Amino acid sequence: MQRFPCPFCGLRDETEFHYGGEAGNDRPEPAAEVSDQGWAEYLHIETNPKGRSREIWVHMTCGEFFLLERDTVTHEVFASESLRRAAP
Ligand SMILES: [Zn+2]
Repeated sequence: MQRFPCPFCGLRDETEFHYGGEAGNDRPEPAAEVSDQGWAEYLHIETNPKGRSREIWVHMTCGEFFLLERDTVTHEVFASESLRRAAP
């Protein structure tokens, strides 16, 4: 069983987490005028990379969403970062 590092709770069993989708700066936002088909593809079609990837996960125990950078082949975890922003 894999263990993921929640930025708030520390290492926990993978059964406590849910996958939220791919993340990354290399995925451009669609244009303001986008077709229904284009928007559906943006929301639901993922690249499913092999190797190092950035993903959004949620820790169901504390309810926090965070960015997880890991290798999808070796399961090595490189980083875990909160998606919370500091209050202005
Ligand atoms: Zn947590």
